[in-house]
Amino acid sequence: MEKFNFFMPTKVVFGQDVVKQAGEDLVLGSKALIVTGRSSAKLSGALDDVLEVLTTPYVLFAEVENNPTVETVIRGGQLAREAGCDYVIAIGGGSPLDAAKVMAVLAVNDSYPLEFYKNGWKTPALPLVAIPTTAGTGSEVTQYAVLTIEEEETKKGLSGPDLFPKVAYLDPKYTSSLPLDVTIDTAVDALSHLVEGYLSGRATAASDLVALQGLALWGTTIRPLKTGDLDDSVRSALLLASSLGGITIAQTGTTLVHALGYPLTYFHDYPHGRANGVLMAEYLRYTHQVAPERVETVLELLELDSLDDFGDLMDQFFSQYLGELSLSSEQIQLYASRATLTRNIANSLGNPSVEQLTKILEASIMR
Ligand code: NAP
Ligand code: ZN
Repeated sequence: MEKFNFFMPTKVVFGQDVVKQAGEDLVLGSKALIVTGRSSAKLSGALDDVLEVLTTPYVLFAEVENNPTVETVIRGGQLAREAGCDYVIAIGGGSPLDAAKVMAVLAVNDSYPLEFYKNGWKTPALPLVAIPTTAGTGSEVTQYAVLTIEEEETKKGLSGPDLFPKVAYLDPKYTSSLPLDVTIDTAVDALSHLVEGYLSGRATAASDLVALQGLALWGTTIRPLKTGDLDDSVRSALLLASSLGGITIAQTGTTLVHALGYPLTYFHDYPHGRANGVLMAEYLRYTHQVAPERVETVLELLELDSLDDFGDLMDQFFSQYLGELSLSSEQIQLYASRATLTRNIANSLGNPSVEQLTKILEASIMR
């Protein structure tokens, strides 16, 4: 009989105006560090809603860039420590959410963040409230935080049980201000979490339930994503699907798509979800050889007839950007061999070799 754990300690509150209705529940201490990107927290209306209900003093760190760096989290951690913050409110896409998680660790552990990758940290992170303004990463329900590491020329995930936010407030209206291209990029990140989670070597009966439900829900958004007709019900489905994706990868990890996608973001400035999207059709072709039934199930739930139809869908979203990716064969080799060093490859069905990864990457960008 199968044995598994299912750990997801974040309280999820979903729906219209959940932040405004949170009242005291939003308050997890006596002074908050509020962490945001440069504009989205304001633009989405989420910051104003938080400030309306917040009853404690706070300091604001509103400088998290896309794909946050070590330097940024150090600055935020320092601010939290100097200002005496004892909890964190993170508002934004995956970048501010992830950065806030590491700041919550640095606030109580005076160390250099790269140390955390080697030896972890001693004191548990400050409690954190997560309010996503993109529907993609699922960071509001994961124990992961991804940072850009200049020293290693890559992006790398930190993980720890105390990185799960205490509470996540999910209001789809905050995602309405997203432009169509970011909506698609982030939606495809959510799709990749659902697909990779379902096709992970660490998938369990419980994670499958979540992934399958999320895939069916994501499938309902395909047509509106293509037409750009994104009403409240579509925004709501995307946000829920992205959280289901987060809950899935919290159990299963991600696979080779994320491992090969990171260098496309680091070296070529490709947004995270777009990098995954460009790789996913070839990933499914490869995985179909080793787990055909699972891949067929993904296609059925998305109501797509074939792998080619899946490829056409990704092409519709992303082929316009492929011109920005002209990789030399040396670069392809380098990215594939570096990917083999990541944990994500061990999660991938079929135990892909560096040659197979090279083929997937080559076929993905030379279309
Ligand atoms: P993001 O980098 O957080 O944001 C992308 C852009 O969208 C930014 O310019 C941001 O503006 C803008 N934006 C965000 N919300 C908006 C809104 N409601 N209206 C208008 N603009 C908005 O994108 P993301 O895809 O959500 O996050 C990507 C990061 O998450 C990557 O670093 C990735 O590696 C990581 N990730 C983490 C996990 C996890 O489990 N922790 C999983 C997958 C990916 P601002 O400048 O204001 O921020
Ligand atoms: Zn992702």
